[in-house]
Amino acid sequence: MGPLSIRLPIHSYRAELVEAVKSSRCMVVTGETGCGKTTQLPQFIREAGLASKDSAIAVTQPRRVAAISVASRVAEEAGVELGREVGYQVRFDDCSSSLTTIKYMTDGCLLRELLDDPELSRYGVVVLDEAHERSLATDILFGLVKNLLGKPLSETKARKRELKVVIMSATLNSQQFSTFFDFCPVFEIPGRTFPVSYHYCCPDDGFDGKKLVYMSQMARVVMEIHLDHPEGDILAFLTGQGEIETMCNRLFKMAEEIDYEHDVSCQEICGMKILPLYGAMSTEQQQAVFHGREPGIRRVIVATNIATTSLTVDGVVYVVDCGYVKQLAYNPSTGLDTLSVVPIAKSEAIQRAGRAGRTSPGKGFRLYSAKFFEGLERETVPEIKRTSLTSVVLSLKCMGILNVVEFQYLDPPDEKMVLEALRQLFFYRAINADGHVTDLGRQLVQFPLLPSLARAVLHSRTLACQEVVLPIVAMLSVESVLIRPSSTKDAERALQKHNYLAQVSGGSSDFSTLFTIYQLATSSADMRWWCRDHYVHWRAVNTARSIHQQLQSLLDRQPETDTHETPTAPLSQRIRQALCYGLFGSVARLSPGQRSFRTMDGHSTMCYIHPSSALFGQEEKLDWVVFYELVDTAKTYMRTLCPIRYAWVKELLPQLHDIDVYRLSNCERKREVAGVVAGEDLTLATKKMCQSPKETL
Ligand code: ADP
Ligand code: MG
Repeated sequence: MGPLSIRLPIHSYRAELVEAVKSSRCMVVTGETGCGKTTQLPQFIREAGLASKDSAIAVTQPRRVAAISVASRVAEEAGVELGREVGYQVRFDDCSSSLTTIKYMTDGCLLRELLDDPELSRYGVVVLDEAHERSLATDILFGLVKNLLGKPLSETKARKRELKVVIMSATLNSQQFSTFFDFCPVFEIPGRTFPVSYHYCCPDDGFDGKKLVYMSQMARVVMEIHLDHPEGDILAFLTGQGEIETMCNRLFKMAEEIDYEHDVSCQEICGMKILPLYGAMSTEQQQAVFHGREPGIRRVIVATNIATTSLTVDGVVYVVDCGYVKQLAYNPSTGLDTLSVVPIAKSEAIQRAGRAGRTSPGKGFRLYSAKFFEGLERETVPEIKRTSLTSVVLSLKCMGILNVVEFQYLDPPDEKMVLEALRQLFFYRAINADGHVTDLGRQLVQFPLLPSLARAVLHSRTLACQEVVLPIVAMLSVESVLIRPSSTKDAERALQKHNYLAQVSGGSSDFSTLFTIYQLATSSADMRWWCRDHYVHWRAVNTARSIHQQLQSLLDRQPETDTHETPTAPLSQRIRQALCYGLFGSVARLSPGQRSFRTMDGHSTMCYIHPSSALFGQEEKLDWVVFYELVDTAKTYMRTLCPIRYAWVKELLPQLHDIDVYRLSNCERKREVAGVVAGEDLTLATKKMCQSPKETL
């Protein structure tokens, strides 16, 4: 053990674990969160000589933050430079080399690697970590890895050694994983947890777990704990960056009111240190949460659910849980994935509170009532059952798995969702009417983007506007570009700056605003200063710059299929046309005489322009628009949009009548009970979609 390592429960089982990995091709390892699975097991495997740089260990994580953070921790423990023996790889950021023996990566990255290296020949051991999270990519990896395990070494082409697989999860569902992998052994690391007492902060008939209420309640509860309870850090769970920043400011102000002698230059206030923790933060900022504990100072960590199981913060004795989570889910009424805030599942509530009892007895404060808790779903619905499958279905098809309906899923998705994905891919011309991948489909899969954006990127070359569309797509691929401060004075100033940026770019397209920000920031002499001055996240633009370069080199590698004519339309039109080429599934039309729009994908969802858009308030001037995403809050809002002409999307809009979705699925078992239902629904959708746009209004 290096000087950095503290003794963790897993250390007592080192020899047995190594033996177990040696003697079985596949095993499940479970243990309480924080017992050392993610950081230690890969090191045990490496030190036992079960891996080398030619036969490395891949450890998948559903979240990119976790992959990066854990890799830096392990590199530090092992005393090596990050990116050499220990590295990580996440979308658009590869920090690994030919020397790398332990590679933490997102599950999505490993899935992409399978496209080029179907036998995963670089790896001796694949560890699918955080399996209980049931992320979409991990679920698909289960099936693919199981396939690989079934292949004897003699039948493989590139492998030198047999592949070993380790599934790691918190204490949930280990039996289901073992059963799926032909009843492979389960290794349980006995936990050392302490009792956690629960406190419901809301009476049963009270105003229960409502969003606005939990923000003010949380601030109050945190301050009460701080003032009245013995020492121990507080971990508070909220749903996202905006809420977390607001909460940190609010706590700071409350503490300031108590602590009159507070020294402004000092981070601690009233004996308390307030630390945010969410995915879009920089790695250095995140590391602040793991370091610098000081006696006598109580730390308050305000986090998203990344702190539930992916990242373990030591010293937590009190947990405050808002009871909600931000989740991406397919919305059947709109036919699109939407990000919305929903109640957590019971298992998540239990895991969150459990973080209080890792090193001593703890307390869990729930900002809802016991009745609300009883009413929660037992488990979080696996992502595969709630998000769109378009990307993964295309990947599977590219890997030669034609019949995606009968793929070995741990939990099969709704057949309707698979058919919906196939339908989408058909419209993208990524698969043909027989369900086979087209040349375009093979090109789209090369881009680590949604097929829709990849299509826009490819088409931008045909329309000779890639210098603009690539930066736009890069900016769409980073999280939160604009800083929205919570103090009123700053917020006003930020708004002025943002409005100015929108005006500079013409004031009629949010996509152009993104491009303007990118261009002005990257061409300024001091980008950090420019970003700070314009309330733009420097890190986001910096990341976008790297993504732009990567997209450019991917695009340069794609053969040109379209014949090139010198485009005659003005640039601003070509940009919007290229975007439409990918995003035609997200077009909407203004309802005459109103401020609302209807989507034109056959679902005819009513939606509005998001107040943050440059087009907000200009509804009467608009007719057709294309948008990047829908957000569901009080109403359904379109975010990031621009006006288009119907003529540009007319040919692209779904023409459903002539396709047989069952043919696309390459599934023999055609119209069985479930299938017929799905078929009828689709026929209905078909009819709707084939009506002329006028009639649908
Ligand atoms: P598990 O995977 O079983 O949940 P981990 O291996 O993630 O457990 O955590 C084990 C220990 O390592 C914990 O005490 C945790 O605080 C510490 N740790 C994990 N990640 C980091 C990090 N990025 N920086 C510092 N310490 C970390
Ligand atoms: Mg872990």
